[in-house]
Amino acid sequence: MSRQAKAVVCREWGKPVQVETITVDGPKRGEVTIKVAACGVCHSDHSATTGKIQYPPPLVVGHEGAGVVVEVGEGVTGLKEGDYVVTTFITMCGKCRNCVRGRPVLCENAKKSMVTLPDGTVRTHGKDDEDLYVFGACGVMAEYATLHEDNCVKIDEGVPLPSAALVGCAVITGVGSVFNTAQLEPGSRAAVFGIGGVGLNAIQGCVTAGAEMVIAVDTNEAKLEMAKEFGATHTININEVEDVSKAIKKMTAGGVDYAFECVGNGKVVEQAYKALGRAGTVVVVGVADMKDKTSISTFALPADERTLKGSWLGSARPQYDFPKILNLYKANRLKLDELITQTYSIDEAPQAFEDMIAGKNARGVIVFE
Ligand code: NAD
Ligand code: ZN
Repeated sequence: MSRQAKAVVCREWGKPVQVETITVDGPKRGEVTIKVAACGVCHSDHSATTGKIQYPPPLVVGHEGAGVVVEVGEGVTGLKEGDYVVTTFITMCGKCRNCVRGRPVLCENAKKSMVTLPDGTVRTHGKDDEDLYVFGACGVMAEYATLHEDNCVKIDEGVPLPSAALVGCAVITGVGSVFNTAQLEPGSRAAVFGIGGVGLNAIQGCVTAGAEMVIAVDTNEAKLEMAKEFGATHTININEVEDVSKAIKKMTAGGVDYAFECVGNGKVVEQAYKALGRAGTVVVVGVADMKDKTSISTFALPADERTLKGSWLGSARPQYDFPKILNLYKANRLKLDELITQTYSIDEAPQAFEDMIAGKNARGVIVFE
């Protein structure tokens, strides 16, 4: 059945998002409709509204959601009405070469569903039946959303849904970049550049994985304070040092084993690379502008056996990693509730974007009634 829903829509790159009432069609084969309970506001949503991430408008934003299944399409086997789910912008077909070799975030079929559902069409419509694209096959900054079941991960009841929502992007991206992409060993020395929702989770991933030193780097003092609460052992405000890479090398007597770039800027990638010790690894998590470039010393790559690698959604296997993260949360080994600095109603979504850009929140979360 079709439902009316308030949704956060980007109508034009560079303009603020707006809240509209849209129509959400019921599920087709393999799909479910969820009543969204909460959706985190991620920098990637903002990047899609500026054209930094080139998703065409009109676009329903939101990919970091949690909710309850209210309708199930034909052929759905893994979910039923009433199930609690966290959404993921990765469609995993489970059959392509990358899925079967354990790299579902690189699913060859996911590429087709960056702004539509996997079958190439949408269930979201504006006035006069106009099609609205959806961020990452999700578009869950809306009261209702119809998604493919492969973009939903079933979770246990009992976890507050606003906290669970964050697992779908910020938490898995940060924690997964440490656990899965870097496979950081206990006793390692690490630096995290950019302490937003993603960077804070890279910090707590490093702590949980047993890092000896975790250095938080940002331009914003309030973010560095948050970093300490999430277990950073040291902080550096870039504005207060002449050369951040040298400062890190000095602090660690030679450089870090792992540096996580959670900003999305080639200059920061360069700083992270220069802060490495021998055999060090830079993990690039931030999503830069398509035209952005970075520059590194080619010589040091072999001579120091350095590694430069990227991490997409924390190299996750969502169906495996999301429940694992929620279990670590239940065991008090990862913080989720503390990531939520501020909640907003859907009508306040434009403010939530402004606050994120102003660096006010670890995470702002839209909470639905
Ligand atoms: P955010 O806006 O919450 O945080 C960004 C942080 O970076 C802020 O604290 C800001 O003060 C800091 N910062 C800005 N410029 C800096 C600089 N030059 N040096 C150090 N710190 C600086 O953003 P977020 O939601 O945490 O996302 C961070 C990045 O990760 C974005 O680029 C986002 O698109 C990307 N992202 C990537 C993936 C992935 O799968 N790889 C998933 C989600 C988000
Ligand atoms: Zn995100």
